[in-house]
Amino acid sequence: MSIDRLKLRWNGWGWVDAPDVLGEKADAVWDWMGKTFGVDPLPSTPPKPLSEIELPQPKLSSVVVDRLRRMLAPDRVKTDDYERAFHARGQSYHDLLYLRAGRVDTAPDAVIYPISADECLAVVQFAASEHVAMIPYGGGSSVVGGVTAQAGRGQSGAVTMDMTLMDQLLDIDEEALVARVQAGIYGPQLEDALQARGYTLGHYPQSFEFSTLGGWIAPRSAGHQSNRYGTAEEWVVSARLATPKGMWTTEGFPNSAAGPQMRDIVAGSEGALGVITEAEVRLHHMPEVKDYRGYVFPEFAAGVSALREIMQVGLPNAMVRLSDPDETFFYNALDSGGVTTDSPAHFCIMLVGLEGDQTTVDCAREQTKAITKEHGGMHMGEGLGEKWYATRFDTPYLRDPMMDHGLGVDTLETCTRWSNVIPLHDAVCEAITKALDRNAPAPDTRSIVMSHLSHSYADGSSLYFTFAFPQNLDREVQQWTAVKAAASDAITASGGTISHHHGVGTDHLPWLEQEKGPVGMAVLKAIKDEVDPASILNPGKLIAGP
Ligand SMILES: Cc1cc2nc3c(=O)[nH]c(=O)nc-3n(C[C@H](O)[C@H](O)[C@H](O)COP(=O)(O)OP(=O)(O)OC[C@H]3O[C@@H](n4cnc5c(N)ncnc54)[C@H](O)[C@@H]3O)c2cc1C
Repeated sequence: MSIDRLKLRWNGWGWVDAPDVLGEKADAVWDWMGKTFGVDPLPSTPPKPLSEIELPQPKLSSVVVDRLRRMLAPDRVKTDDYERAFHARGQSYHDLLYLRAGRVDTAPDAVIYPISADECLAVVQFAASEHVAMIPYGGGSSVVGGVTAQAGRGQSGAVTMDMTLMDQLLDIDEEALVARVQAGIYGPQLEDALQARGYTLGHYPQSFEFSTLGGWIAPRSAGHQSNRYGTAEEWVVSARLATPKGMWTTEGFPNSAAGPQMRDIVAGSEGALGVITEAEVRLHHMPEVKDYRGYVFPEFAAGVSALREIMQVGLPNAMVRLSDPDETFFYNALDSGGVTTDSPAHFCIMLVGLEGDQTTVDCAREQTKAITKEHGGMHMGEGLGEKWYATRFDTPYLRDPMMDHGLGVDTLETCTRWSNVIPLHDAVCEAITKALDRNAPAPDTRSIVMSHLSHSYADGSSLYFTFAFPQNLDREVQQWTAVKAAASDAITASGGTISHHHGVGTDHLPWLEQEKGPVGMAVLKAIKDEVDPASILNPGKLIAGP
């Protein structure tokens, strides 16, 4: 494993000793936030240390634990508090509410670290015979309850299968530009190994530092530059899974008309249909040039039209990210240490990232300038783009300090057709704002709801919402549940998918049937029942338990 887990926060994001993401601006930003959210001064709400938290008693019998130790190796079956707490939940705002409050009411009885596909298979089949829940776990960065260590009804315990010791680049087919890689490899280790040979997968989700290949494929993740490199379901060529029914290897052809492709089922299987042990993925040569720059639009609708045209003329881009006025305002305020106007103006920033050979990038840049200008946009040069690129993994480090100050911040995302982008944007922002108002700690507090478009297509775009708000202390979970439900209802009612790239997990399950339909749900359930009849694989995620 390339990361020492003891150096990571068990109840938050990233390295324990990461420098303060706000740096010298910290005091000014907290002051601005207090005034903006109407809670001045902000309270101090630190998390409970692990030493003061009582974990639930393990349910698994010592006979089963001993058997796991014999199947793997004693030091790869962990039952200590740190391992159990670290693997109890993922990294959603909702998860952190529980972990930080010390309410670790669900935790794996044991955490196991397999080192081969044979071990994965043996353990999965053993778990099925013993009715033990098995939760596949990569980096644990799920934000939809995808790794919550919960046994299903009637099961004798829950074991988390941590895949991060299976972290090798196995081989590269240089003619096909396809690499075969073990599923537990973390993002940076994978890119380092590929780039040492001149290649890249180009998959950079914001969680890149602490997420893994298997964890990208299972919930159909999208990296920042998905417009060029594809989302996980687009770059995965084939996968191998350990299931209670045996090993399952999907097809690996460039394309095939031999019925539905099994990889399309694996991408999106969320650990409920098998443990991905390795996968083949499409590579690219390292781009000669990366060109990231900013454009400013007088209003959101103009930016949306420009983005639609960029996608529909097929202009080669790696990323186009259009912030709405509230997001533009919020990031300006953070950047300037709170020195900004009191309320959002109408203008919005669009960042365009181009990657590839010099000629293609030069040509695409000129076309981008022409299209944006036609829609009233103004070219702002490279400064904004380069700054975003250099700090693109930093924002998640702001969530824990915000929670230390009694502030909540959560994100959710969807995707819809172009004609529906602005109506859906407005409906979801309004639903979140109203739900936050109804669940505010006091009548005079305020929240910020913002959004950006990214991961766009010829026919539509994903929308990503961020909302920041004063926590209703002691009612934080109810507050979040109400807002999440309001947002999910609004997304579904407005013709968006319940998730573009975070997946379903437990949090989105109540809204899944509305988009799959009863027959679609029955097909999913039939696959699950066939491959995992005892329902031990990640119970309650993606598919409701029996
Ligand atoms: C700060 C932050 C930023 C994020 N940014 C993005 C982003 O930009 N784009 C994006 O797509 N997502 C993002 N996410 C969500 C999350 O990082 C992704 O879903 C990521 O793909 C999860 O990878 P992981 O290795 O951490 O998987 P985990 O969280 O460990 O698992 C995710 C799901 O995959 C299953 N799984 C994991 N490994 C395997 C395996 N080997 N076999 C079978 N099933 C497996 C788990 O059971 C679970 O259902 C973000 C999350 C956070 C906290």
